[in-house]
Amino acid sequence: MIYNEMQIPDHIIELDKNSPLESKKSEFLLPDDTIYMDGNSLGPTTKSALDEIETTTKAHWRNDLISSWNKHSWITLPQQIGEKIAPLLGAKSSEVIGCDSISVNLFKLLSAALKINHSRNIIVSESGNFPTDLYIAEGLESLLGKTKCSLKTVEKSAIIDSLNTDVAVLMLTHVDFRSGEKLDIRAITKAAHDKGILVLWDLAHSAGALKLDLDHDNVDFAVGCGYKYLNGGPGAPAFVYVAERHIKTIEQPLRGWMGHTSPFDFTPSYKPATDISKMLCGTPSVISMASLNGALDVFQDVDMAVIEQQAHALKQTFLSTLTNEAITDLKLITPTNSQSQGSQLSFTHEYAFELSQALIANKIIVDFRAPNVLRLGFTPLYLEHRHVYLAATILTTLLKHQEYLKPQFRERKAVT
Ligand SMILES: *Cc1c(COP(=O)(O)O)cnc(C)c1O
Repeated sequence: MIYNEMQIPDHIIELDKNSPLESKKSEFLLPDDTIYMDGNSLGPTTKSALDEIETTTKAHWRNDLISSWNKHSWITLPQQIGEKIAPLLGAKSSEVIGCDSISVNLFKLLSAALKINHSRNIIVSESGNFPTDLYIAEGLESLLGKTKCSLKTVEKSAIIDSLNTDVAVLMLTHVDFRSGEKLDIRAITKAAHDKGILVLWDLAHSAGALKLDLDHDNVDFAVGCGYKYLNGGPGAPAFVYVAERHIKTIEQPLRGWMGHTSPFDFTPSYKPATDISKMLCGTPSVISMASLNGALDVFQDVDMAVIEQQAHALKQTFLSTLTNEAITDLKLITPTNSQSQGSQLSFTHEYAFELSQALIANKIIVDFRAPNVLRLGFTPLYLEHRHVYLAATILTTLLKHQEYLKPQFRERKAVT
């Protein structure tokens, strides 16, 4: 199917013309004729990220070598990134730092939370949480023993009921990676605090996509992803948020030298930094950080409420373009109420994998999550109404003719 020959209705073209984010499209570099609906898995390149990688490698590393740690402030990249991410989270720059992966940062924060709430031993999470979150908690349980750390997973509907005075920390993901369901950070955090429980939010599918207000919502700790909606590049560093009230007392177990108060004194015993830098472990991955640092410039003059609202508008266009037959054939598992949605729509279908492959063959990049979920990301910084209109039209056609049953759409690779 050649979609650039397809007719776009005037009202769709009008929606794009009126988009408050129209000027942002040109900051992204996407391949021609590709409709990218997978920014929830890997954000695309931005000019600013590529420029920053180029300067860091071809100018700074190449010409200034080791002096770049000072001369080009490589050593403060984790803090520079924290400063740029903080406003997207509703946080102060002293509360956010870029480092490591979400998995590693969860280990640090869960350990720290158990230490603060040391008379309690339970970590509550949700059984459908992203697997790495649960694996890290299991690993901690195995390391510390169940009397010190015991993971309890419950269904989403049972979260509030599971909160009691044995629970040390509640660890949840804000937007469900499968269904796209969004939880109420403020209400859940308050319910946990009422029982003396600390709360750790995973913002992998929220940071850069939704308006967040961590300080106002009294969140204790959070982690988030640099390579999804923040477009930092494959394997870009994650971030950590620690509420100001905890920074002085928090102790994390990965006592790497970069978390030391003065790493270059090379003292034999560990003395943590007194600020958010105490969450660091080892040497920052400079090239990856440079890429994320560049990518974050795109967000400097945009309001996250506008991004969230435009994503909802794109989802509306997509859903209203699907025919009734298509809607019946697919099952929308994302809540229909936009207040409970993240920035994606998820559908279950018996042939969800094959459908994802057929869409990709039509240059509509989506993804599949086992066992049967077709996921589409709506990222208004670079995706337009005409794109999602075309995606919905093509998806409708694929369903109508069952084109996804063709044998070439069946083959599975290592990464889905
Ligand atoms: C993508 C994702 C992660 C990824 O963790 P890494 O350790 O950075 O690979 C973690 N949690 C959630 C909810 C995610 O969606």
